[in-house]
Amino acid sequence: MSIQQKSTVRRNEPMSKHTSWRLGGPADIYFRPETLDELLGFLRELEDGVPVYWTGLGSNLLVRDGGIRGVVIAPSNALGSVDRLPGNRIEAGAGVPCTVLARRCARWQLGPAEFFAGIPGTVGGALRMNAGAFGGETWDRVAEVDTVNRRGEVFTRAKDEFEIAYRQVAGPAGEWFIAARFQFTEQPENGLDRVRALMRERQAKQPLGLPSCGSVFRNPQGFHAAQLIDSAGLKGFRVGAAAVSEKHANFIINTGDAAAADVEELIRHIRAVVEERHGIHLELEVHIVGEHA
Ligand SMILES: Cc1cc2nc3c(=O)[nH]c(=O)nc-3n(C[C@H](O)[C@H](O)[C@H](O)COP(=O)(O)OP(=O)(O)OC[C@H]3O[C@@H](n4cnc5c(N)ncnc54)[C@H](O)[C@@H]3O)c2cc1C
Repeated sequence: MSIQQKSTVRRNEPMSKHTSWRLGGPADIYFRPETLDELLGFLRELEDGVPVYWTGLGSNLLVRDGGIRGVVIAPSNALGSVDRLPGNRIEAGAGVPCTVLARRCARWQLGPAEFFAGIPGTVGGALRMNAGAFGGETWDRVAEVDTVNRRGEVFTRAKDEFEIAYRQVAGPAGEWFIAARFQFTEQPENGLDRVRALMRERQAKQPLGLPSCGSVFRNPQGFHAAQLIDSAGLKGFRVGAAAVSEKHANFIINTGDAAAADVEELIRHIRAVVEERHGIHLELEVHIVGEHA
């Protein structure tokens, strides 16, 4: 595997530097390309059998304390452009922060896209998660996407090649998103005001200044995970420095030097108590990756 010229290649890179929980062990190799060509070149040279894991901004990831074997690809610099296309379409690279997409749409008077402002990840992560908020979901507006496989081959895929559900998306195996084209409609009203109003609402309800991954569990059909956890008396419950947020019970906060093992233990405890009290099994929204220490 040759080291690219402008890209960043780091060995034993602590993933705690690249996750919103500020925890997680090292990636064997951490690769941050600066251009699409460097990304494709890197993939084409990659030896068979080396595991590859893609990240966006790590805002929905619990990386275990033993870290990630193989290569972690972080393409946010390389895939960071947003362009307006004819017919109220927007093309966004997978590395574009969702907040940038929301603001750009507001400026171009296109929408609905305000909900993207509340998602602290990339377009790639939002496509993988079908991220959503305030009644909007990422795939509502997707027209088509571009993907790449581990041989560096690029494909354009129609929306109907994916199975799209609440906070989960499945598509052609072994491909990652590199860009999406969204179909919006004209929204002449002041979108930036709506973005600001939604952000104020989130600030009031969520512990946004503290390290977390947002909602840990998906909402079970007909229920709010946060209400189930709160009514089970778990607000403030801690394992080590990992604590259930007092402000929003579906958030687990890293109050200092929490280990991933603390968070996993807390997740197990929450699930067991909610199951015992309410008879409901909570499914994870957060993705857990890597090895135990
Ligand atoms: C404070 C806070 C608030 C949040 N609020 C919300 C919310 O309101 N709604 C919501 O839906 N989520 C929310 N989240 C969760 C998170 O922001 C979203 O899930 C987001 O879409 C993750 O994007 P990311 O780029 O950080 O992805 P990561 O966390 O880096 O990765 C998430 C998953 O996507 C995969 N992935 C990343 N990039 C690609 C790619 N290019 N191609 C294929 N797979 C890829 C990763 O392998 C991983 O499996 C919140 C998180 C925080 C910290």
